[in-house]
Amino acid sequence: MALKVILLGTGDAFGSGGRGHSAVAVVHRGRTILLDCGASLLPAAEQVDLDLSGLVAVGLTHAHGDHIAGWPFLRLYYQYLHPRSEPLTLVGPPGVDRILDQLAKLLYPELDTQGPGYEVVFHPASDGSVVAVEDAELRAVAVTHQRDHPAVGYRLSWGGRTVAFSGDATWSEALVELASEADLFICECNDFEGTNPVHLSYRQLEAHANRFTCRELLLTHCGPDVLARQDELAWPIAQDGQVIEL
Ligand SMILES: [Zn+2]
Repeated sequence: MALKVILLGTGDAFGSGGRGHSAVAVVHRGRTILLDCGASLLPAAEQVDLDLSGLVAVGLTHAHGDHIAGWPFLRLYYQYLHPRSEPLTLVGPPGVDRILDQLAKLLYPELDTQGPGYEVVFHPASDGSVVAVEDAELRAVAVTHQRDHPAVGYRLSWGGRTVAFSGDATWSEALVELASEADLFICECNDFEGTNPVHLSYRQLEAHANRFTCRELLLTHCGPDVLARQDELAWPIAQDGQVIEL
């Protein structure tokens, strides 16, 4: 087993179906890279006994609350519960580091966002940018989400496997690129029908199904209408706490 993928939060912004906010942990030899950091990160990690002291990097897809609001709690965790000394790599659209600092200080003024004891090293993510973290490679692919709100998906290659994650996105060719030959593609599917300028619908994914060359595809960030029509879907819906070994 080269990689363990733990789906910590598979819900939309509203927590539809009782699901947590966006977070995926990818674990290789006891080291973890997190894709998105939704508000329910800490309880979700506790539920599956994920030890966050092995966290080496966080890749954020965009700065909406259901994807980043777990950050202040993660800082709190490292300040009080499990002090760390190792640097933490942060990857995300330009400016997200400032938003995270402001958010952490607003929610917990006593947080020391310059530490204590460890450094957060920020790498801005844009289309095609690659960040090396230990022996992993995190490649960003720009996706289309909210207007004037930069968003990326990621291809994380580690231990000979590739996990791709769309984050939030409406339809674009970037999704075909993200899925290309990936061992697992975790793709948002907010709506069942129609074309939403901000999110994907199942009908859009279905129309392009034969262009996805990933080995496995899981739907995430599903809204109520998708959850209500699970029997009609060609791909499974990711579940909170689900573990996939690649
Ligand atoms: Zn969003």
